[in-house]
Amino acid sequence: MRKPFVAGNWKMNMDSQTGPALAQGVAEGTSGVAGDSVTVAVIPPFVYLPVVQAAVGSSKVAVGAQDIYFEEKGAFTGEISPAMLKDVGCTYVLCGHSERRHVLGETDEIVNKKLLASLAGELLPILCVGELLEERDAGQTEQVVERQIRAGLAGVDAAKMAQVTIAYEPVWAIGTGRTATREQAQEVHAFIRKLLGEIYDASVAAEIRIQYGGSVKPDNAKELMNEPDVDGCLVGGASLKVDDFVAIIKAAV
Ligand code: PEP
Repeated sequence: MRKPFVAGNWKMNMDSQTGPALAQGVAEGTSGVAGDSVTVAVIPPFVYLPVVQAAVGSSKVAVGAQDIYFEEKGAFTGEISPAMLKDVGCTYVLCGHSERRHVLGETDEIVNKKLLASLAGELLPILCVGELLEERDAGQTEQVVERQIRAGLAGVDAAKMAQVTIAYEPVWAIGTGRTATREQAQEVHAFIRKLLGEIYDASVAAEIRIQYGGSVKPDNAKELMNEPDVDGCLVGGASLKVDDFVAIIKAAV
C-alpha cells in the first residue's frame, strides 16, 4: 500500500516572515496525519530553507528544495550543492520541474545529473515530467513522458528507486487553473507505472509514488487522489495558503 505524498512547491514566493508562518501553520494543521497517513513536504526557495526548517521544528512535515546542482563544490557561482541542502535539513529535491525545463532551459541530461546527484547526496528526488499543450494536442503525451522518465532515471538501479517519487505535471495545467480531469491524470499515471514495470520490475512499479500536479485545489484534490494510480499531489499556488494546503493534505487521507 502506497502512502500518499503531498508536497507544496512555493516557487519564488514568500519571505522570511510569511514563509515560516506558513510552514508552522501547515505543521499545526496536519499534526496527527503528517508523516503517519500522508507524507507532507514544503518546498520553499533556497534562502528560506533554514528558517522554514526551524518553523516545522519537530513536526513530521519535511522540507524540500526546488532545485539542486550536480557538482559537489567549487567554482559554480550561484549554485547549491547536495551537501549544502543536506546541511540545512532538506529531505526532498525537485528535479526537472517544468519551469526549470521550459523557462530556464534544463535538458533531460541535466535533470538526470541532478537526480543522480540527489541520490548520491542522500536526498530524495521528485522527478517532474509532463507534456506541453501542443504535445498533448499532437497526441505525443506518452512519448514525451516516456522520454523524460527514461532519460531522467538513466543510471538509477531498482534498489535506488525506493527513494524516488515521480510527479506527473501536464505543463498546460500548471498555474493555469486548468486541471487535468481525473481520467486524464489516471491514464498517464497508469502509463508511467506500466513503463516503470518495463524499465525495472513489478515491485518497483507497484511501490513508487506518482504525484499529480497542475492547479490542484481543495475542491479537486480528492477526486484526483481517488484515482488508483494517483498517490498524492505536487501543489503550487494552493500551497501558499495554510487552509487550502491543509485541506488538500487531508483530502489525501
Ligand atoms: C507546481 O508548481 O508544480 C504546480 C503544479 O503549480 P500549480 O499548483 O500552481 O499549478
